[in-house]
Amino acid sequence: MFEFTEEQKMMRETVRKLGIEKLEPRAAEVDRTGEFPWDLMKVLAENGILQLPLPEEYGGINADTTTLCIVSEELAKYCNTSSFVICIQGSNMKVISAGGNEEQKDRFFKRLSSGDEITAFALTEPSGGSDVGAMKTRAVRQGDNYILNGTKCFISCGSVAHIIPLFAYTDPGKGLKDGLSAFILEKGTPGFTIGKKEDKLGARGVPASELILEDARIPVENLLGEEGDGLEICLSAINITRLTVGCHTLGIAQGALDYAIGYAKERVAFGKPIASFQGIQFKLADMAIQLEASRSLLYRTAFMSDKGASGIERLSSMAKCFAAEVSVDVTLKAVTVLGGYGYMKEYPVERKLRDAMCSLFMEGTGEIQRLNIARFILG
Ligand SMILES: Cc1cc2nc3c(=O)[nH]c(=O)nc-3n(C[C@H](O)[C@H](O)[C@H](O)COP(=O)(O)OP(=O)(O)OC[C@H]3O[C@@H](n4cnc5c(N)ncnc54)[C@H](O)[C@@H]3O)c2cc1C
Repeated sequence: MFEFTEEQKMMRETVRKLGIEKLEPRAAEVDRTGEFPWDLMKVLAENGILQLPLPEEYGGINADTTTLCIVSEELAKYCNTSSFVICIQGSNMKVISAGGNEEQKDRFFKRLSSGDEITAFALTEPSGGSDVGAMKTRAVRQGDNYILNGTKCFISCGSVAHIIPLFAYTDPGKGLKDGLSAFILEKGTPGFTIGKKEDKLGARGVPASELILEDARIPVENLLGEEGDGLEICLSAINITRLTVGCHTLGIAQGALDYAIGYAKERVAFGKPIASFQGIQFKLADMAIQLEASRSLLYRTAFMSDKGASGIERLSSMAKCFAAEVSVDVTLKAVTVLGGYGYMKEYPVERKLRDAMCSLFMEGTGEIQRLNIARFILG
């Protein structure tokens, strides 16, 4: 059994208040315009939320996985973009912690401590997101620099981020395990440009872009770890990010259920509130069961991860896969509870359905999670 600490409960209340007062009022507009909401980032930074995963000496609280999950879930109830950005920040701070030397941690953590700068994570390429080994980006050492050529795609916040962990082959002949390296790509790097910005179904406040590297010069002091450490560094954050992304999509769906409950109590059909019909009650009950099951798996795994328990990789794959699929189902059910109004942009549930769908792909698709899980259960 697990229980949140008093600090975690307080954090949840703080984030909830911020979500209701400052974030939710902007969420529909951010979705409509598709413009990255720097004003909301300022709110998150001023309240120390953006910096939570940083060590204390850099203004963070070295937030554990459970705390990051709580914050991701709570933010997502009110604002998809804010929660999405926290998942990315949490992931990248872990990447820098895992792969960076003391000088690199100091250099990048100092910049992230102000809350003015954000990060992106650049792995996927047009040659295939699931098949990471098929990536084509190459990094060749030339004096004090690495020269990088290649294209990353679908990179969330890539066009607005300042600090971007990026993966490239330094020795393709050695394959993914020993040939891949991790770098920090900085905004303004010569030879680095932003390519196509995707026009997405949901999560529209988080830009997803191509990052184009044409003889981009990354200084050797931005290599994380040693050459060939890329895969290990990449995997260092993945279990945690699967859980925060799982809680992110859980929060979206919980927000949809909360809205649907309120609506069902108000909307009258055949002379009665629709909440009095068993057909609607059963649907709402099913949604609540699905989310509670998802929450249990996510937080149990997060709690085990914070305790240093084994088996986290298998459980985090299960939790993320389950949470994403449940959230899409629950948000779709929420749309149907609102009837035709659920389909209209005037109501928030259609947006939540579109936002929840994004989690089907983040941190690996359901098929890739199932392959991972099957690998474990088949030994
Ligand atoms: C909105 C959004 C934001 C994203 N943000 C980022 C980001 O910030 N950084 C980043 O690096 N990437 C990001 N991605 C990329 C994401 O991780 C990939 O889309 C995902 O890994 C799938 O890769 P793909 O799109 O190339 O699909 P493909 O790998 O081409 O897969 C296509 C289909 O085939 C299935 N498939 C593939 N291989 C197998 C197999 N062996 N067995 C069974 N089925 C298989 C897949 O599950 C999928 O259904 C983002 C994607 C989206 C949609």
